[in-house]
Amino acid sequence: MSNSYVLVINSGSSSLKFAVINSATGEAVLSGLGECFGLEDSRMSWKFNGDKREVAIQGDESHHKLAINTLVGLTEELALAQDIVAVGHRIVHGGEKFTQTVRIDEAVTQEIEQLADLAPLHNPAGAIGIRAALEAFPSLPQFAVFDTAFHQTMPKKAFTGAICNTLYSDYGIRRYGFHGTSHYYVSREAAHMLNKSIDDASFISVHLGNGASVCAIEKGRSVDTSMGFTPLSGLMMGTRCGDLDPGIIEFLLKKGWSQERVFDALNKKSGFLGVSGVTSDARGILEAMENGHEGAKLAFEVFTYRVAKYISSYLVPLTSLDAIIFTGGIGENSLPIRREILNNLKLLGFVEDEQGNEAARFGNAGVIARSEMLDAVAMVIPTNEEYVIVQQSMVLLNQ
Ligand code: ADP
Repeated sequence: MSNSYVLVINSGSSSLKFAVINSATGEAVLSGLGECFGLEDSRMSWKFNGDKREVAIQGDESHHKLAINTLVGLTEELALAQDIVAVGHRIVHGGEKFTQTVRIDEAVTQEIEQLADLAPLHNPAGAIGIRAALEAFPSLPQFAVFDTAFHQTMPKKAFTGAICNTLYSDYGIRRYGFHGTSHYYVSREAAHMLNKSIDDASFISVHLGNGASVCAIEKGRSVDTSMGFTPLSGLMMGTRCGDLDPGIIEFLLKKGWSQERVFDALNKKSGFLGVSGVTSDARGILEAMENGHEGAKLAFEVFTYRVAKYISSYLVPLTSLDAIIFTGGIGENSLPIRREILNNLKLLGFVEDEQGNEAARFGNAGVIARSEMLDAVAMVIPTNEEYVIVQQSMVLLNQ
């Protein structure tokens, strides 16, 4: 039987990640990255069968288009093209319009463009990637998978801001949530591992990467999540501040800071980087801590304390709890960060399984703590957002 592959494209404002994934096994046979778009050293690198290669991307057309054209040549050269059956695009914002994965046509592409107001950096880039891919692969069905879609099941009380209601009716200001494909994936995997039906299970999913969010999931549906109108809210992140008193913004503006400077500080100079003064990277924070760096220690404490506070508050939307799920680069790998988060949750009865916590790293799933009080576990599940894009594209393809 021949293989069938899905080409997954994640188009950013100055980059384009791609992978050709076996739809049956989830294995990425080809994966790569185009980066530095718009700059002179724009380039594309990829891995195939353990080999790594890189080429410069140069030409008169847009770098997104040039990258996708390079990708077309590459899939032909590597004899993958004939087995690619669909293209799946990761799109950040689906607003209230897109509650699930959809097949792309001109109307969908225009809707994604119109949602640029809500995701000014991401949606236009996503739409550019879609248009380039439609031209490059005209005979392939293409699908859009939205980061926000999984959270469209949140009840009104969870997505409504405690602000003037005309801000919602006039501008669509509400909680949307992001990381939806990750929370969706790990909740299904966790139910499977715990031998439960997803329709009977309740989870708090904790995605800790450079971006970070928590999601309460009841019967497989998102009922609350910590990112909001933008991915800036909720948890402290690599460089983002997370929840913040809006009065600080007014204060800084009155101090003469420009709007750009304020939001640059909150998006790019806060979080691990801002608090530690060293790095946005969790590994670097842990290393600096070992060397006695006070700022790094504080960043570690603020981060773990805030994650634990979010986890405990997300018991509110649930009727029971089966598992707290850790995922994302930090959640999947960092034993000390997970340990400290669990230490902060002692009142909920969580007792660490030290061996389990040691073992569940570097791609391994497993249980890392148990609470008799809640009859729940804490576990690690490596996320796989690309596989969700593949699965959902295949479901629609076969309908
Ligand atoms: P993104 O949100 O960009 O997809 P990732 O999910 O890859 O990010 O997570 C990146 C974060 O994971 C970084 O802070 C990195 O330091 C952290 N990380 C990766 N491996 C480890 C590790 N072994 N220990 C601690 N942190 C790790």
